[in-house]
Amino acid sequence: MRRKLAAGNWKMNGTGAALEELDELSRMIGTTALQVVICPPAPLLYRACEAAQDSIIAIGGQDCHSAAAGAHTGDISAAMIADTGAQYVILGHSERRADHHESDADIHAKVKAAWAAELTAILCIGETAEQQQSGTTLEILATQLAGSLPDAVSATNTVIAYEPVWAIGTGKVPSLEQIAETHDFIRDTLITRFGETTGNAVPLLYGGSVKPDNAETIFRAENVDGALVGGASLKASDFAPIIAALD
Ligand code: 13P
Repeated sequence: MRRKLAAGNWKMNGTGAALEELDELSRMIGTTALQVVICPPAPLLYRACEAAQDSIIAIGGQDCHSAAAGAHTGDISAAMIADTGAQYVILGHSERRADHHESDADIHAKVKAAWAAELTAILCIGETAEQQQSGTTLEILATQLAGSLPDAVSATNTVIAYEPVWAIGTGKVPSLEQIAETHDFIRDTLITRFGETTGNAVPLLYGGSVKPDNAETIFRAENVDGALVGGASLKASDFAPIIAALD
């Protein structure tokens, strides 16, 4: 049985007051065998880890630099994220690929840096609207996986999040058939490269406009092991029902 995971990406939202949502979320979800991860903005990481200490919620960063240390003003290393108590880091999010021109090679180096700091990488891949319309989705996913995933993938050091760029923050969600097709393809690609055991053990998340009212349908796809949720992770009252739909 693969582990199931619900991750919330707060993006550039929230100051200290938002940490109350962690208490509220913890109270609402109670005990569960699911892994629940919240990725707040970097300045909140340490306090989020403290706030989530006695709960089942794990904390993650939203990006890290590929270098261990050095003259990179404004950046943070994987070791700094781990030092706050965080256990995960999102890498290769399409907003970082677009806003910061991150290439697959950059992301490959960041995944290695995350592993070196013993963080689990949540690697994001996904096609743009143009790529989807031109029918190249699976090619794009294959290229992103080949370029951004280093060889030492294990059952515990990596989670893959498939996030179609056109579905992020738009309210548009692929059909269940499309979600099943892309996740089956990612699963097959992982098995081909890393073998049956590892390829089958890496959790695959769907991300892009996941809401309380569509989560249950999305989770019906066999290779969807959870979700990476943006807007609906900001409020415990929205995220808790999504987590419940996965449980
Ligand atoms: P939304 O859930 O707001 O569409 O964002 C998805 C996302 O980008 C999560 O990383």
